[in-house]
Amino acid sequence: MPIKTVNDIDVTSKRVLLRVDFNVPMEKSGGGIRDDTRIRVCLPTIRYLLDHHAKVIICSHLGRPKGKIDETLRMTPVARRLSELLGQPVKSLKECVGPEVEKVVSSMNDGDVVLLENLRFYPGEEKNDPEFAKGLARLADVFVNDAFGASHRAHASVVGVTNYLPSVAGFLMEKEVTSLGGLLEKPERPFAAVIGGAKVSDKLDVLDNIVPDVDVLIIGGGMTATFLKSRGNRVGKSLVEDDKIQYVRDLSEQAKSHDVRLLLPTDVVVSPSLDGTSESRTVSVSDIPDGWFIGDIGPQTIAEYTGALSGCKTVFWNGPMGVFEVEQFATGTREIASTIARLDAVKVVGGGSTVEAVTRLGVADQMTHVSTGGGATLEFISGKQLPGVKALEENRLEVPAVR
Ligand code: ADP
Ligand code: MG
Repeated sequence: MPIKTVNDIDVTSKRVLLRVDFNVPMEKSGGGIRDDTRIRVCLPTIRYLLDHHAKVIICSHLGRPKGKIDETLRMTPVARRLSELLGQPVKSLKECVGPEVEKVVSSMNDGDVVLLENLRFYPGEEKNDPEFAKGLARLADVFVNDAFGASHRAHASVVGVTNYLPSVAGFLMEKEVTSLGGLLEKPERPFAAVIGGAKVSDKLDVLDNIVPDVDVLIIGGGMTATFLKSRGNRVGKSLVEDDKIQYVRDLSEQAKSHDVRLLLPTDVVVSPSLDGTSESRTVSVSDIPDGWFIGDIGPQTIAEYTGALSGCKTVFWNGPMGVFEVEQFATGTREIASTIARLDAVKVVGGGSTVEAVTRLGVADQMTHVSTGGGATLEFISGKQLPGVKALEENRLEVPAVR
């Protein structure tokens, strides 16, 4: 079901409660922001609201304070950064709900921005407590959800508040739902999924949901070991999820029955350790030495995967091909990233580490969509309905006329 966006409503002079995911990585000491991507990706929605003379009341969580005040997780540095990016003051409030906040909000002018305190300082946020949700709703006339990365959580500021306010999506939320939804609904073919990362067990739901839809399924990363072992290969000391061996056998059968080309590495880079302190070697998957780890896919595999991807019209990539954080094992991820970047196709990348890799390699802007969701992205691709998205789809409350 299509969701309404800020484009579909009149926000002029309205008090808009905007939920974002400003859960930015912080520096270990000093309270600085290490990476402000999560702030930047919401700027289009914030600027639109300001250009249309709304009063913008922004809220987000930061870290895991577990329902208590944590001085190191206050939103002040985020407000400062947002203010720099917008080129206008952003008032950082010490609370999210209550008379003090209501007083500040009631004195806002059109085009003003305030940032509420960390939502997760309140136990009611994660419990989806109706009283906390009502307290948030009292601040505004309209709710806008641009927090795709939090939309797999049925929290008060994501779901609860939509019971009391007319609710629409921001532009980031819209782009995520359209891009990821497009993969699942009407992908242009051939459609390839490249799935890597640490463990099979993290990707079961994604694999189950996409196998019937794709034409090509490419496997890399740590989970390779479980696939190889299921086919009788010795994999040295590589992590094998023995309780998933039957699962990957079934998955291979399922791929066959859907006519999916399932590709596994034919050669791998191996080493006695994965921290970059030991020698490494490229071997065939039938010659992995006892006591060695698989760290990356090998050059022959890279060539095969590149060949399989060429001509594909839709690609979804989640999970690095190797331990890309260590240079010795970064080649597979780097080569697959640049192969995908070069394709004339719809290219969607998701997952915390994968997005980090694509960004670090400087190819993020060559992708059609780099999903900001992490866990939310994987749940979406697994075919689950995200509570925050569902709440927007089902919202029928009308935006009130300007008072
Ligand atoms: P994402 O966050 O993109 O969903 P994952 O969390 O599933 O990806 O996996 C990322 C992690 O997988 C990285 O830290 C990477 O080092 C690890 N990884 C990739 N290949 C291997 C391997 N061969 N052995 C061990 N770990 C691996
Ligand atoms: Mg991850």
